[in-house]
Amino acid sequence: ILYNQVQDLKGSIRVYCRVRPFLPGQSSNVSSIGHIEDGNIKINTPLKYGKEGHKYFSFNKVFGTSATQDEIFMDTQPLIRSVLDGYNVCIFAYGQTGSGKTYTMTGPKDITKQNQGVNYRALNDLFYLVNQRKGVFLYDISVQMLEIYNEQVRDLLSNEEICNSSQKAINVPGASLVPVSSTFDIIQLMDIGLRNRAIGSTAMNDRSSRSHSCLTVHVEAREIASGTILHGCMHLVDLAGSERVDKSEVAGDRLKEAQHINKSLSALGDVIAALAQKNSHVPYRNSKLTQLLQDSLGGQSKTLMFVHISPETDAIGETISTLKFAERVS
Ligand code: ADP
Ligand code: MG
Repeated sequence: ILYNQVQDLKGSIRVYCRVRPFLPGQSSNVSSIGHIEDGNIKINTPLKYGKEGHKYFSFNKVFGTSATQDEIFMDTQPLIRSVLDGYNVCIFAYGQTGSGKTYTMTGPKDITKQNQGVNYRALNDLFYLVNQRKGVFLYDISVQMLEIYNEQVRDLLSNEEICNSSQKAINVPGASLVPVSSTFDIIQLMDIGLRNRAIGSTAMNDRSSRSHSCLTVHVEAREIASGTILHGCMHLVDLAGSERVDKSEVAGDRLKEAQHINKSLSALGDVIAALAQKNSHVPYRNSKLTQLLQDSLGGQSKTLMFVHISPETDAIGETISTLKFAERVS
């Protein structure tokens, strides 16, 4: 029994690595990405990273440049079912700006059914399963959309700045929680949220890459026969860009943003690493993000982290640091 429990725990944090393809117009002659097989990836490194000229990293899965949105979701799908079974699930997209986080979670700008990201597919699946279980369960589903910018939580569905006065996890006092009954409802809310998110961005400063966005779907399921109530929730988190900014080059607001991002991504890494190592102390309180997600990280919860890397040799420093972060939490 103990062995099984350990196996279960081990399986509760999964890390998938995804490599963005070269973009149209980029030269693909030289890539820092070497051979990919199962969960292993070889990275070609310049000499300063070690004399071998390459490094290997291992994860639960590695998706190469030709992986489709469909393939990505296939390995995510089982988590959606567990939300309806009363589990809390967190799905994160981590990586430097431009590495494909939003592509994985939402999709490209010109979105089609084919290239829809995890969010849309997860919601479709959720409602598909809800409909399948109709007659056995009664469901209440509601949605929250938050942004964390400079350690401030903003409610994207009400346009009002809110403050997270409570230290308790998902419990964000005053944040809008909107009941929904279809994927369409949620897509409409996501559009509002995205529009609200754009407020505050300027041409010089795309705030969306400097803030975390978190779409949360709360599910309450009541089994009609027994009256038993199950609560599950799913957090879909598009994290702020993980790139380190050169402190000598930035000042003022940009430096402050960078410090906040740095702090919260480290705090997230510390929490997941502590859970992965089954430490008795898990440092949830070091950032707004980890406070917000406390109830959904650890315990019976399930976590999936997509770490994104870019293939360009220019990005090698960020690629290595992203993969090191990922290795630490897996
Ligand atoms: P991030 O959110 O990490 O800043 P984006 O998701 O915006 O990065 O991706 C940067 C650019 O690369 C976008 O134009 C996006 O459409 C494109 N892109 C990212 N991942 C892929 C992919 N797997 N296949 C095709 N294009 C991609
Ligand atoms: Mg993005």
